[in-house]
Amino acid sequence: MKMLIYGEHRDGQIRKITFENITLARQLGAEFEVVFIGQVNDNFKEQAAKYGASKVLFVKNEKLNTYSPDGYAKVLMRIIKDRTPDVLLMGATATGKDLAPRVSALLNAPMATDCIKVELENGQLKLVRPMYAGKVRANIQLNGDLQIVTVRPNVYQASEQAVDAGSEEISVEAPDFKAIVKEIVSGAKEKLDVTEADIIVSGGRGMKGPENWHLIEELASLLGAATGASRAAVDAGWRPHDEQVGQTGKTVSPTLYIAVGISGAIQHLAGMSSSKYIVAINKDPEAPIFKIADYGIVADLFEVLPRMIEELKKM
Ligand code: FAD
Repeated sequence: MKMLIYGEHRDGQIRKITFENITLARQLGAEFEVVFIGQVNDNFKEQAAKYGASKVLFVKNEKLNTYSPDGYAKVLMRIIKDRTPDVLLMGATATGKDLAPRVSALLNAPMATDCIKVELENGQLKLVRPMYAGKVRANIQLNGDLQIVTVRPNVYQASEQAVDAGSEEISVEAPDFKAIVKEIVSGAKEKLDVTEADIIVSGGRGMKGPENWHLIEELASLLGAATGASRAAVDAGWRPHDEQVGQTGKTVSPTLYIAVGISGAIQHLAGMSSSKYIVAINKDPEAPIFKIADYGIVADLFEVLPRMIEELKKM
């Protein structure tokens, strides 16, 4: 099984999902290469090698320094035609969601997105992905010379296993782009991305208003966590959209998800039910969130959060 892993990077840093996918390919015993397109850092090869990537491909071209949806898809198509991998492995990230279907359409290749389990049996991939807002899990087998798979971030833990890596620079003529990203306006740089966080503290309508969010932020900061929100909190304008967890927000799989004042509507669960441990704080014992929580605290959050913060400060 030959895999090509799309090396996702931003602001000169390799994204965590790339290391997770390298670890996954290694654990599957696949032969694999990692391709980085665009403005790369000199240390990318060493970084990837730390996780076991022995072959790293760089596609450099000034025109590719900024992400272009159709441009990157065409470049990937050329690389795939040249290297003939059996599988293209990407992250089920914003980029993966944008790019994978374009490559799939260009190459008429079958695709399974947002997989939470990837196994290899008798040379055939066996995939599991949630469907219908997480209500069911589908076992999927793709059929095609090239199979495209995107993997949900944080499902596979990246683990180091250093190897000597070789690299190759691939020169491609940048195609004519139909769409060029002119500018990326990013939010607070120091903020931990909710999709990459190992711990998330999320607040919902039960928080009553933005003026109380300092409780979520303080707890998150003590735990080294990212902050998330339900759609109700985002729609009310209490929190920015990039924090929204759920069907129309982000899909997260942290080790620990703390849901505070969130009822647990199916659309919220769709984005966080694959978290390893779920802690719910809600004053309503009938709240659906308790059905999937590993630990539940039935209480007023305005009493619980200050006490949790106080205890954590003592540690
Ligand atoms: P509520 O459902 O109002 O729950 C608030 C909870 O806080 C209650 O359970 C209450 O008991 C508790 N509470 C109140 N006061 C306290 C207190 N003092 N102490 C402790 N607990 C307290 N939702 C998402 O989150 N993400 C999505 O991506 C998303 N996408 C959607 C897509 C579609 C097409 C649709 C139709 C809906 C979507 N929703 C999404 C909305 C979803 O259906 C719910 O309306 C939303 O998740 C509710 O948010 P909430 O749990 O914060 O609010």
